[in-house]
Amino acid sequence: MSSPIIYLDNAATTKVDQDVIETMIPYMSELYANASSSHLLGTMVNKEVKTAREKVGKLFNVEARDITFTSGATEAINTILKGAATFRNGGRNQIITCETEHAATLETCKYLETMGVEIIYLPVNAYGIIDLEQLKAHISDRTLLISIMLANNETGVLQDIKNITKIAHEHGALMMSDATQAVGKLAIDVEDLDIDFLVFSAHKFHGPKGIGGFYSKSSSKNFPPLLHGGGQEKGKRSGTLNVANIVGLGKCCENAFSQIKKNEESITKLRDMLEDEILRAIPESYINGEKTKRLCNITNICFPKIDADIFIKMLNNVCVSNGSACHSSVIEASHVLKAMGLNDSDAFGSLRFSLSKYTTEEEIHKAIEKVKQVYSLLNN
Ligand code: PLP
Repeated sequence: MSSPIIYLDNAATTKVDQDVIETMIPYMSELYANASSSHLLGTMVNKEVKTAREKVGKLFNVEARDITFTSGATEAINTILKGAATFRNGGRNQIITCETEHAATLETCKYLETMGVEIIYLPVNAYGIIDLEQLKAHISDRTLLISIMLANNETGVLQDIKNITKIAHEHGALMMSDATQAVGKLAIDVEDLDIDFLVFSAHKFHGPKGIGGFYSKSSSKNFPPLLHGGGQEKGKRSGTLNVANIVGLGKCCENAFSQIKKNEESITKLRDMLEDEILRAIPESYINGEKTKRLCNITNICFPKIDADIFIKMLNNVCVSNGSACHSSVIEASHVLKAMGLNDSDAFGSLRFSLSKYTTEEEIHKAIEKVKQVYSLLNN
């Protein structure tokens, strides 16, 4: 009999909550109207979209009207960065980002470079953090926008968004943060952070795939949209609303709002147990980004001289990830770990374990045993 799956890849995607699924089902059966239709069924559906938007707003402590739904974080990031670059507030033509961002940001920035936008890629230190003095040295009245993620998807490392935003605003620049990994893991108060844009995606916190969005301050009203068409979402994102997914997103925001504190505590306990046991059993291993603030659910552990791809295959039912990427059949080491100063060998030897509220203590014990067992096989 095969061993049950131990899923420790929640930074890639998460299990959808059962009550989220149940909330969505009616919108694929009897409540199928277009939310823009003015007849009775359309009005009923539109009311539920409004409620979902309010639940998203509540999670981030913002007004529901400032939330725009998209197909996910990638689309939200493209919308904001390309919108900002097209608008070029007062002729500003520079975006500042950082080397460890997700590909959705980095590839969009690379594209914008070909369109004549100047992009500054800030380096990070050994813990994955940008240096605010370096940011101050680069920012000027030519800076249009700063785009720095709240939590890194490979290491869970948290950036100092509040102070980065302060610097942005002192220079008249806008601030966007990709919070895709942080949502549902820690409380996010957009009003307190004072950022102009926040990006999120439901499938990273127990919602459906293919729905997410962004918060935008009213300052973004002049941005051209990425998608032109029927003018849905106040013209910021045309296309018939994906009602079932939107209602599901609302429900998973409601769940996150009520569970965040409790989940953060229990997940941190399990994450610490996993780290402590692995480091004790394998003294040559180390945690990438350990000595800084990190998300409760991600740990990225380097097993020097080990090939993480082989490790992952041998872990079999224990599902974990690595950050290496395959580009035209050439495997490249994680750009995040390389930016933190790891050599190719250590970057290729690093594994990401990402937990969720569904991870149990028993699973963590079994995962630790399997890691120790496979490591000793690979190391002999
Ligand atoms: N940003 C971060 C930090 C992510 O981890 C991901 C998902 O891998 C994305 C953006 C893209 O999200 P989506 O799958 O919703 O497009």
